[in-house]
Amino acid sequence: MQLLFSLALLLFLTLTAEAGDWCYQSQFTCDHQCKTPNLWNNADSDCAGRFQSPINVVTRKTLPDERLTAFKFSDYQKIFSGSIKNNGHSVQVQIPHGSTISGGGLSTTYKAVQFHLHWGARGGPGSEHTIDGEQYPMELHIVHMKHRYTDLNTALKDPEGVAVLGFFYEKSNSANRKYDPIISSLQSITEANKTTSMKPVSLTQLIPAEQNLTSYYRYKGSLTTPGCTESVVWTLFESPIPLSSDQLKAFSDLKFHDGKPMVDTFRPVQPLNNRQVFRSSTTAVIASAAVLVVALVAALGMSHLN
Ligand SMILES: [Zn+2]
Repeated sequence: MQLLFSLALLLFLTLTAEAGDWCYQSQFTCDHQCKTPNLWNNADSDCAGRFQSPINVVTRKTLPDERLTAFKFSDYQKIFSGSIKNNGHSVQVQIPHGSTISGGGLSTTYKAVQFHLHWGARGGPGSEHTIDGEQYPMELHIVHMKHRYTDLNTALKDPEGVAVLGFFYEKSNSANRKYDPIISSLQSITEANKTTSMKPVSLTQLIPAEQNLTSYYRYKGSLTTPGCTESVVWTLFESPIPLSSDQLKAFSDLKFHDGKPMVDTFRPVQPLNNRQVFRSSTTAVIASAAVLVVALVAALGMSHLN
């Protein structure tokens, strides 16, 4: 009887210990049966919600929205020396107070809290969001919360409490020196739960120039890791960040909690479930319209001459 009780207790402890033990598909093996993305809803029912992220953006089904104006980035150029952490699922950098975003069709000002990345295996496909089915090698998430909140957990209770700016990466022939502070610190945090101080950086240096940030997609979704809370206003910028193949590969030297190479750290795309994805009116469209007007005027001028 006592033995049965002990066995039952052991089983119970094992099950509860595994409840929070989520992982990416790349971590699953027969001797390490962690909760892969299709099982995340066992730990967090929100992961089975109807407004989940990431998604595949089908560009021809996006709707232009003139309210999606340019963002105002405040103190994004401020240089800070933060710490960078291998949290067992990704690399994450806490952002000191001060950097905010407004405009961009957002209802209020949001302040930057942290940024982290999602990537593939040795430079292979690894972004979470895809555009017309294309998966980029890496994706940056700069997580913001409404300025009136003091912690992310409170912000997550508000259906629009969190705004994440998503940026894609593309393979370039030359190294992007602006990423040296991040990439050179990776070798000090290969093991899970390790933290190191990073050489000073600004958010501005990590993202494309401001004039290239007017083309973006907008939709309502969720966090892409458990608890999968549906309180995120997503922005996905069209203009990618260049990194060399070696720079992209450096992220695959990190290790998960279980000691395996930290690769393919993305959740598969989720059903759209009738959500509408909006797009900002792009400068490219305006430019071509201007060209058309000029051409028309020229043509009219020519016809007058005849
Ligand atoms: Zn993320």
